Amino acid sequence: METTLQKLLSEFEGKQEEIIPILLKVQDKFQSIPKNSMQEIAQFTKVPESQVYGVATFYSLFSMEPTGKTRVQICTSPMCAQVGSHKSLQQAKEYYNELETKKLPDHLVTIEAVECLGLCDHAPAALVNETPVAHINSDQPESWIDEPEEAPFGYLGGEPRWLTERCGEINPTDLQQFEDHNGFTGLRKVLAEMQPADVIARIEESGLSGRGGAAFPTGLKWKFTAGAPGEPKYIVCNADESEPGTFKDRILIEGDPYQIIEGMVIAGFAINAHRGYIYIRGEYHRGKAILQKAIVAARSKGYLGPDILNSGFGFDIEIHPGAGAYICGEETALFESIEGKRGNPRYKPPFPTTNGLFGKPTVINNVETLCSAAWIMTHGTSEFRSQGTEKSPGTKLFCLSGDIHKPGVYEVPFGTPLRALLDMAGGVKGELQTILMGGAAGGFATPDQLDVRLSFEGLKEAGLPLGSGVISIINTEHDLRHYLLGLAHFFSHESCGKCFPCQLGTKRQLDIITKVAEGKASESDIELLMDIGQTMKQASLCGLGMTASSAILSAYEKWPELFAKVN
Ligand code: SF4
Repeated sequence: METTLQKLLSEFEGKQEEIIPILLKVQDKFQSIPKNSMQEIAQFTKVPESQVYGVATFYSLFSMEPTGKTRVQICTSPMCAQVGSHKSLQQAKEYYNELETKKLPDHLVTIEAVECLGLCDHAPAALVNETPVAHINSDQPESWIDEPEEAPFGYLGGEPRWLTERCGEINPTDLQQFEDHNGFTGLRKVLAEMQPADVIARIEESGLSGRGGAAFPTGLKWKFTAGAPGEPKYIVCNADESEPGTFKDRILIEGDPYQIIEGMVIAGFAINAHRGYIYIRGEYHRGKAILQKAIVAARSKGYLGPDILNSGFGFDIEIHPGAGAYICGEETALFESIEGKRGNPRYKPPFPTTNGLFGKPTVINNVETLCSAAWIMTHGTSEFRSQGTEKSPGTKLFCLSGDIHKPGVYEVPFGTPLRALLDMAGGVKGELQTILMGGAAGGFATPDQLDVRLSFEGLKEAGLPLGSGVISIINTEHDLRHYLLGLAHFFSHESCGKCFPCQLGTKRQLDIITKVAEGKASESDIELLMDIGQTMKQASLCGLGMTASSAILSAYEKWPELFAKVN
């Protein structure tokens, strides 16, 4: 007789890249990954059992121990911790302690502390099974755990609203509404009037650079990949935003999924790729469902498939979910993850433009970058350059969270002063202490830097990072040392462990910052902390390790007294 596992496996083809989707289904069905399921999954996907085990133990959404039918994940990253998520966690644990100790999986409520859920605008936030829940700082945790109310879409502000024009205004999965609001106009133009090289030239002319943090020129990336030997080529959309403080891609995914599809098809046409993947973080259940619906609808109307709009060009998209690993936002770790492996970054070179997904030439772009490409093909290069600065053309989405009156995503032209953005968001709550710019891997701005212009060159001149657009506001009511502790904890938890400087460095950094937060760090501890920070910067294999100490070094540079021992 067919077992439950066999029935579940029958939905798949038995490919190695299905390991993570299979494990997600197993976790969902059994509330854990039963040890005795590994062998069968390994045989089915034709890989060694050790590989399945390695994957199951790498990603934080998988649990080898039984979890409750209700799984509550409470974000304890700095942005949620700042507004009380540790207290919410403690209250929820106390309330459900009795049920937990009975170890009855059918009735159990599992309460877990997790790193950022991408809900910083709704902080403190949690996921109750697949439901995102906002503002969980209630004295009665059962009120939001037993009957979770779905968090709203989120606040959107700024001007001009280019990429976010349709977000919150139309039904995101209604293809007709997308078409009625200028949707797929850029793709139609491309397929009817242009050659692939023209598309790349147009993107180069626009000056568009990657919006995921690295800021690599998009047109150049497309050109390198188009010219690289090897077939097939791939387009990968990086929708794994997991940097604490970042939630802008969530707004684009949930608010305008067809714009992402449009950007991906245009990129595919430009480099002669016929297949694309959207790697979406495992915690974005709502976004994944919206994207799935949009892909099906786009296919049914000829915007995806073997012959798009009778142009002879074929392209299709597959969604690949992550399973809880910040490192998978790193492009090569993301490829490994899609291929059904642990998310360990690869050595570079070779770069993805020649050796990307499945070893083939690959364009990997962030959600916002692909939406910008679709916008440029719809409205034109000069219109794109009409906003922003010479070196940073166009608009940028910023994520405002923390002690600000209206947290949310703000789309503004590059070059907007930081002060103007804070004013748009209703101003700082209380007295401003500092602003973390660029996310957990960023740096701190001081109150006298509010006139800095938010462009690549403006921020560089001020010694501040842009990152993916995180602006996290901290008022004077918070002890910055505890904030740093949250950041150190985050990196220690998220280091993939492949290289020593980061594997050991993030752990030692956490040890010392714990002492700093307790006022117990000696001078030699601080010397060692600085040494570790510089070593990670210079010797780590990937960006995670290279930037894991950035915020801490930035804080020390500005407020060394914070690190001193308290007698
Ligand atoms: Fe892994 Fe950290 Fe090394 Fe990157 S720097 S490969 S995250 S251990």
